[in-house]
Amino acid sequence: MRGIAAVPSYVVMQPTTLCNLDCAYCYLPMRAADQRMPVAVAEAVAAAVNPWAAAGRFSVVWHGGEPLAAGRKHLAALLAPFGPEVEHHVQTNATLIDDAWCAFFAEHGIRVSVSVDGPRERNAERVTRGGRPAYDRILAGVAVLRRHGVAFSALAVVSRPAPGLATELYDYFLDLGCDVLGVNIEETEGVNTRTNARDPAAVTAFWAELVGAWRRDPRIHLREVEWSLRYAGAVLAGAADDLLPRRLDPIPTVAHDGSVVVLSPELAGFTDPRYGDFSSGNVLATPLAEILVDAGRTPWVGEFLAGVEACRSSCPYFGFCGGGHAANRYFELGRFDGTETEHCRNSKIRLLEGVLEHARDHESPAA
Ligand code: SF4
Repeated sequence: MRGIAAVPSYVVMQPTTLCNLDCAYCYLPMRAADQRMPVAVAEAVAAAVNPWAAAGRFSVVWHGGEPLAAGRKHLAALLAPFGPEVEHHVQTNATLIDDAWCAFFAEHGIRVSVSVDGPRERNAERVTRGGRPAYDRILAGVAVLRRHGVAFSALAVVSRPAPGLATELYDYFLDLGCDVLGVNIEETEGVNTRTNARDPAAVTAFWAELVGAWRRDPRIHLREVEWSLRYAGAVLAGAADDLLPRRLDPIPTVAHDGSVVVLSPELAGFTDPRYGDFSSGNVLATPLAEILVDAGRTPWVGEFLAGVEACRSSCPYFGFCGGGHAANRYFELGRFDGTETEHCRNSKIRLLEGVLEHARDHESPAA
């Protein structure tokens, strides 16, 4: 894997900066302001995306802010320029979901992913703008999805991973009815400056227990566990080198104003005296395909690619991780060419160690 691919596998779009919640760990800098994406931005992105989708599977992920806060009328106008081959996804806090939104998801073929951190007491960080718990409103939205038979994924942030928590979480999501689950250990990113340094043994034990919970009832596609098992299987088959893509997926994030930040959506909306606004161009001035072809020339991107090479030559986990995420390096280390971060320790290194710990604890005595 070297350099950045000219064609991504998906694009992240920010229909509005606004979020109706104010979660304690949120990284978004402008979530109190309703800055909406003009339709001209969607038209410019669709001009690049439609041919990519006609040639193979391609997704647009509507992220925020809270994307549903843009309203159905505006979101419909932003969706209109995209062709029928484009898959649309929405990452939502679910609090605004009602019957009309479910009809909207069905009409536009939108796949839904809900952000919820587990049972009520695990959602203390998810609060309204007035500081009240958002849990009942999140669950009310999920109930509407279920009533309409809308399949959904879930994304959970875990702030304090520890033994005992993983089984509780997995059982909760089995009951919730999601078909895919992603688990993120809280990250120090954006305006969230809380430390994410965690006790290594507790994080490893959390992941090991999550593998065990999933193996007992693997009805949910558990993203992190399936990734690591796929990697372990490839290592055993001598095919680990084939797992990483040949080039990094640029994961372009198109912000509300049309500016494009590659590799890490979390960098959108920030500026730095050394790196500027992190953007590689604006779709209102330059076609997205051209921006991506030249993205490697954005100074911080070159620095990040040097960091990926440093990872390749120094880290035994590189074949699984591929060099980590740009935003974690920047917000933890202040630059892009470092290697280990707390994020990669929590979410890559200890994840793989947890899978191995589970395997060791459950290996057959005869083996
Ligand atoms: S685990 Fe960390 S140090 Fe290793 S390749 Fe990934 S980002 Fe680099």
